[in-house]
Amino acid sequence: MCGIVAYVGSRQAQPILIEGLKRLEYRGYDSAGMAVLNGDVRVVRAVGRVSVLEERLSGAGGLAGTLGIAHTRWATHGGVSEANAHPHMDDRHGIALIHNGIIENYSALRTWLEEKGHAFKSETDTEVLTMLIGELYDPDNGVDLERAVQAALREVTGAYALAAICKNEPGVLVAARKGSPLMVGVGASEYIVASDPSAIVAHTTQAITLEDYQVCRLTPESFRTSTIDNVPVTPRIHELELELAQIELGDFPHYMLKEIFEQPASLRQTMRGRLDQREGRVVLGGVGQYARELVKARRFILTAQGTALHAAMIGEYMIEELAKAPTEVEYASEFRYRNPIIEDGTVVVAVSQSGETADTLAALHEAKDRGALALGVVNVVGSSIARETDAGVYLRVGPEIGVASTKAFTGQVAVLALLSLFLGRRRFMSHEQCSHFIAELERIPDSIQRVLQESDHIKEVVSRYCDRENWLFLGRGYNYPVALEGALKLKEISYIHAEGMPAAEMKHGPIALINDGMPCVFIANRGSQYDKVMSNIQEVRSRGGHVIAVATEGDKEILKHAEDVFYVPDVPEALSPLVTVVPLQLLAYHAAVIRGHDVDKPRNLAKSVTVE
Ligand code: GLU
Repeated sequence: MCGIVAYVGSRQAQPILIEGLKRLEYRGYDSAGMAVLNGDVRVVRAVGRVSVLEERLSGAGGLAGTLGIAHTRWATHGGVSEANAHPHMDDRHGIALIHNGIIENYSALRTWLEEKGHAFKSETDTEVLTMLIGELYDPDNGVDLERAVQAALREVTGAYALAAICKNEPGVLVAARKGSPLMVGVGASEYIVASDPSAIVAHTTQAITLEDYQVCRLTPESFRTSTIDNVPVTPRIHELELELAQIELGDFPHYMLKEIFEQPASLRQTMRGRLDQREGRVVLGGVGQYARELVKARRFILTAQGTALHAAMIGEYMIEELAKAPTEVEYASEFRYRNPIIEDGTVVVAVSQSGETADTLAALHEAKDRGALALGVVNVVGSSIARETDAGVYLRVGPEIGVASTKAFTGQVAVLALLSLFLGRRRFMSHEQCSHFIAELERIPDSIQRVLQESDHIKEVVSRYCDRENWLFLGRGYNYPVALEGALKLKEISYIHAEGMPAAEMKHGPIALINDGMPCVFIANRGSQYDKVMSNIQEVRSRGGHVIAVATEGDKEILKHAEDVFYVPDVPEALSPLVTVVPLQLLAYHAAVIRGHDVDKPRNLAKSVTVE
């Protein structure tokens, strides 16, 4: 959840670490801290954003030195306070540690360490790990920092990405991971360790991605990788695909708005080289090898959390309609713990932007243990889910930095559409049907472009309602998950209470909530259930609700029923979520900005949820 950045080399560490922390801040941002080794280990920490840490650092005269570690926290154990912020120090040897993840057996370890006389200053699991490393550190008997980290990690359960330094070992940086991402940027006589490439690319495009249970010892001149059992491993240096321009804001005020506006281009990337209209087929290199198993599959289970779950729900409708394969969607967190039935011919598809979502990863392990063929639909190349699935399809939408997911959602829906066509064409779809669909998919980016031109109109409408604290989002069929997604977006960044549901469900209870002027957003584009949605709109209006409709261009009728209308181009029903979600993304964005919130770093959230 958090951001880790560490540096060893010949340059001053502080500016590199601060710049890295700013790039990683979207991963967690309740507090931040830094430790630099220069004779002694000096630590500066602060509650709040990286900018607060920066002020503290300049107040303290800065931290000089060429070896340092830094962290932005997303608290799991212990409140948000300076004492709980990382880096944590051990109480004997001047060891400083930053950590992402959860040490599950921290409580028993803490009791044991307290019995050994260690005094704790924080409530975190991370400090326990720091003390444990300190307890095991014994350089006179060959247990240096690297060995002590290895030994400590053999004792812990849970997930970690970490970096450590020690006063007695100038020029030595030790990093390790299990379950949380960590990579090492390889520069000229310098290394930058970070949770993701955005903190590395400004310095080098050569990197090593650490695997689970690997420990890396870095000095300006050398690196060595081993397992936690001290078995040497040969790391593979690879080229980072990320370009700096992709993670810059450019002319946009927020990453979220930039990413909403990137959707026409990002979807073109998702589809590039994968659609063959003339042949009426979809080419998915990442799953081609399993085409036979997929075509013969008896059942698909799509599993995800949050926004990705909404995309999966749309995927369920698409796979059932286009490929006629029985499909279910389940929260990964529920799937994992409820003894799910996996019969022969079950394919489990894990959907996740980061590819590190802990719940989804755990569900994937469960599914694989039970013999399912596992596919991944993820954005981050080389992420844990990407590596642990049998096959998969990347979103290719580029880095998503806004915490509220937008372009990854449309990317996921598009990939699931491609997968449906890939399967459908091999199962029941004719050449004509498939190539017709492909042509429609190719038109989607232009359709989204038209919706984006409505941004100012959406802003004007939202400005009239964004003082209302309760909203409903209603849709049917393919647009029921879009209603859920619209409500989630509003909750996430504007902190307005919103509920999404199937439009028909409203009258089974939630209709009791409707009072004068309550904003009710209907996804009412033309489709098989248009008339039914119109009836639901009437039910809301007759109880004083205020109807905002997303409707198909040219639909004049809707103007008689809705106070405000956001038009979207006419596209096939199965693909309509790709366009109907866009006004809802903009609605949430503008509401949050008008209400004065930090859109890219909403309270309590973090980008990728790497804890269960
Ligand atoms: N579990 C640690 C803590 O609460 C690390 C959290 C993080 O990943 O930021 O401090």
